[in-house]
Amino acid sequence: MTKYISIRGGAQPVEFDTAVLEGFAADGGLYVPEKIPELSMKKLKHLSTLTYPRVALEVIRPFIGRHIIPEQDLETLVEKSFEAFRHPDVLPVKPINPEKNIHCMELFYGPTLSFKDIAMGFLINTMDYLLKKKNKHLSIILATTGDTGPAAAFAAAGKSTIDCWPLYPEGMISEEQERQMTALSASNIHPVGVENCPDGGDNLDVVVARMFSSEKLKERLHLSSVNSINWCRVMFQAAHYVYGYLKTCGTIGETVRFSVPSGAFGNLFAGFLAREMGVPITFICANNENRTLHRAFSRGVFRKEALQQTVSSAIDIVVPYNFWRFIYFAANGDHGRVREWMDAFEAEGEIKLPDDVMKKIRKGFVSIGISDEQTLAIMAEYWKQERYLLDPHGAVAVAAAEILESQNGARTKTVCLATAHPAKFPEVVKQALNSPELPDDAAHESIIQARNLEERKSVCGLEDLDDFLAKDIEKQINSKKGK
Ligand SMILES: *Cc1c(COP(=O)(O)O)cnc(C)c1O
Repeated sequence: MTKYISIRGGAQPVEFDTAVLEGFAADGGLYVPEKIPELSMKKLKHLSTLTYPRVALEVIRPFIGRHIIPEQDLETLVEKSFEAFRHPDVLPVKPINPEKNIHCMELFYGPTLSFKDIAMGFLINTMDYLLKKKNKHLSIILATTGDTGPAAAFAAAGKSTIDCWPLYPEGMISEEQERQMTALSASNIHPVGVENCPDGGDNLDVVVARMFSSEKLKERLHLSSVNSINWCRVMFQAAHYVYGYLKTCGTIGETVRFSVPSGAFGNLFAGFLAREMGVPITFICANNENRTLHRAFSRGVFRKEALQQTVSSAIDIVVPYNFWRFIYFAANGDHGRVREWMDAFEAEGEIKLPDDVMKKIRKGFVSIGISDEQTLAIMAEYWKQERYLLDPHGAVAVAAAEILESQNGARTKTVCLATAHPAKFPEVVKQALNSPELPDDAAHESIIQARNLEERKSVCGLEDLDDFLAKDIEKQINSKKGK
């Protein structure tokens, strides 16, 4: 059965339940499976007849021991996680530009209209399931650039085993995203707007990591995290590549390319995982003006620079922490080297990737950086010519796909991942279409309804955040004890 180890090599191998409930490994590393299971061509053929939730079940099954989650329970957990999705195909794939062989996989039919809903529902339901079995409670703190927070808040709302503190950089996410957290009436959700975050969500990641590094605090506050450091999320996201591949390929075995708007590299690592399992896919890593990943792929320099605020704000990230999982596999699981690189990056904010690692990470990956101007232009172009409204993140993926197509020709099918609904970014849509009026495609009933609900949140400065959280979490835990 699959066990999980830390990429830093300093923790005992654990089972799936421990990896999921802890988030970070005890040595501060990220969990990865000891071995990646295989999907044979025969199995892929079989999967091609199934619905998305069924494909997902088959993809994740070998990662989870039956003694941890029995077959029937796993099936129920997966099904339950897609009940609130609003499209009959769950994750539809549409040809948006047949001439250039460009398709769009729409990942935004979940309850909070971004691709974060896909894995978050399953993760939170699984945590709740495991916690009930163990008669335990968790305090989840998570940093968000705008979409993880709403997805986690919605999935956790009303769960008795979980209290959740979504932290977001005040004023740096869209109003619509903020309201998806603050207008939830559930008493176990505690949104915190954090002021003075020059590096946006990255500043908040640092606070979360610091709180996790204290074993005492972790224990006392029952801390856990659902950021994409959590293995369960990246594992689950492998399924949409398998499904997207099967919906797009003419014959099984043909190569399909995915263009992915990338921030923390969780989604792309999941793609890599699907490829390692045996799906014949390649990737475009599409960055906006924040180009830590593009620098790494194109020049072998993994370096963070100052955050740029862009129109695709959910990928305004300068430390793509899932890249470490990728580097770990590129270094053939050499814990010593990974530890050295992580420590050097922590100390200096930069490492040079050696040639052997570069050769591995470039296999099947190209990277492209897209400017805000290009993002807005693509949104306008697809709206005018195809009547297809892209959100700014899907637009980054399509812009990158178009650039590659113009260099290589349209021989390979490209699936662009549309990671959010345009209704989450109305101001950017107006700017792109150069119109004060929004088209109907940029509206969504859930967003309109949230405008009339009462908002509830705390506001806190970055410098006071550790303290504020420790006190607020303790207060919740004590109030539960009192009952
Ligand atoms: C989170 C997010 C991404 C980036 O995914 P990563 O796993 O962080 O690379 C892209 N688009 C949207 C809309 C997102 O919310």
